[in-house]
Amino acid sequence: PIIMVGAATCGRASGALDVMHAIGDKLKELDIEAIVRQVGCVGMCHSEVLVDIIKPGRPRITYANITPDLSKELVEDYLVHENAREDLAICVSDDTPEDDLQVRVVMRNCGHIDPNSITDYLAQDGYMGLAKALEMTPQEIIDEVKESGLRGRGGGGFPAGRKWESCLRVDADQKYVICNADEGDPGAFMDRSVLEGDPHSVIEGMAIAGYAIGATKGILYVRAEYPLAIRQLKIAIEQAKERNLLGKNILGSGFDFELDIFQGAGAFVCGESTALVLSIEGRRGMPKPLPRPRTSEEGLWGKPTLLNNVKTFACVAQIIHRGTDWFKSIGTENCPGTAVFALTGKINKSGLIEVPMGIQLEKIINDIGGGVAGGRAFKAVQTGGPSGGCLPPEMLNLPVDFDSLTAAGSMMGSGGMVVMDDTTCMVDVARYFLEFSLEESCGQCTPCRAGTEQMLTILNDISQGKGREGDIDLLVEMGEAIIDGSICGLGQSAPNPVLSTIRYFREEYEAHIRNKE
Ligand code: SF4
Repeated sequence: PIIMVGAATCGRASGALDVMHAIGDKLKELDIEAIVRQVGCVGMCHSEVLVDIIKPGRPRITYANITPDLSKELVEDYLVHENAREDLAICVSDDTPEDDLQVRVVMRNCGHIDPNSITDYLAQDGYMGLAKALEMTPQEIIDEVKESGLRGRGGGGFPAGRKWESCLRVDADQKYVICNADEGDPGAFMDRSVLEGDPHSVIEGMAIAGYAIGATKGILYVRAEYPLAIRQLKIAIEQAKERNLLGKNILGSGFDFELDIFQGAGAFVCGESTALVLSIEGRRGMPKPLPRPRTSEEGLWGKPTLLNNVKTFACVAQIIHRGTDWFKSIGTENCPGTAVFALTGKINKSGLIEVPMGIQLEKIINDIGGGVAGGRAFKAVQTGGPSGGCLPPEMLNLPVDFDSLTAAGSMMGSGGMVVMDDTTCMVDVARYFLEFSLEESCGQCTPCRAGTEQMLTILNDISQGKGREGDIDLLVEMGEAIIDGSICGLGQSAPNPVLSTIRYFREEYEAHIRNKE
């Protein structure tokens, strides 16, 4: 038998390591030989600790909310008495225990394989994309990525293939590939989970990108607050080197690709490309003023640099291995593939979900997320983190993709999705996100540095019953000025939570001002 314990950060926070020890002790006591392995997060953070038991010839059984004592009972009942305790199981299937509405591309291996085992990854067709890519020309790979319609998963949704092509076109003695794992939105943990649960998928995508643009060096920029992700990556990089999947003369192709990890210090603004590059160079992480050359032409150490998000790289190997038709069969015409969200807030089933682009917001919240917690009424959902906006109940039929969310006044961002119920004060929500942006502003643009502070002062006044007539219009005017006058995405999107809550919940602002409360 094989026993798998969900031991990503969410599982560990719920006691996964104690469960693993308890299972080990029980197996010893019963004198049963079984393989106990840790796996990443399958997405059901709301039900950790998750334990899967697989007996030869039988389907995998998944149990949720397992404690050390319960794990001992399960092991004895199933492995000794043939009682599978299906009353406690949430899934009896070899598939991922998930709703039919989900599609796994980026998270395909999370919760299924041991992230510390390259053999597990290879058994899931791992590194097949790289092997295939090495038999193609760089232009052929880029054509495939372009043809797939893959858009960068970091938030902007820029076509990945076009970015790759502009890196390829520049002549340089050295080029770089950087993976942006500086995930910093409040409530977002998608990238961390992918790195913890399936690090090889990102490494493989980066190696393919390196070969395609002619880069021999890659850097994973991971925030230092992600120690488990960094540990899993270090192990995975060493394993890939041992198998000649990284390093010199990969798989005998003559292509060299080295990969290093750089730990970011947790500044939100370092998610911006030019700030991230400066941070790696050992300088202060501040976005460069306009006009500035593109990172793809002049990035790290002044060399052409391809910068993509964790999830973008995790898609690439699958696209090369399984083909563009397969990828385009998921999602919408303009946004093929899937979106990964960290579904949090006042929701029954919080955790990670992966859905086809274009799915309706309502399906995510009610069908996958199990509806609003405590049976309360849905009030709003915030997407895109501090840069995004709040969408009201009237927008529940909105298709979720880059373009629709932007048109509705929010954004996809890197994938944070926070649900609010009818007890939530929208002015407080706007204050919270604006305060976050103010604290994370690097301070070099006056509109971003001083404007957000002014807006926050007005919001504080409104929520303390000291609001004045005209404050709402002033907030809108200032928000628009900050968007126009800031040089990077942080300032250009910082007013979004205020503007979107005014747009959809203006009466709440008015009530605070009118009732002086
Ligand atoms: Fe810094 Fe804000 Fe200007 Fe961006 S917009 S460069 S974070 S001050």
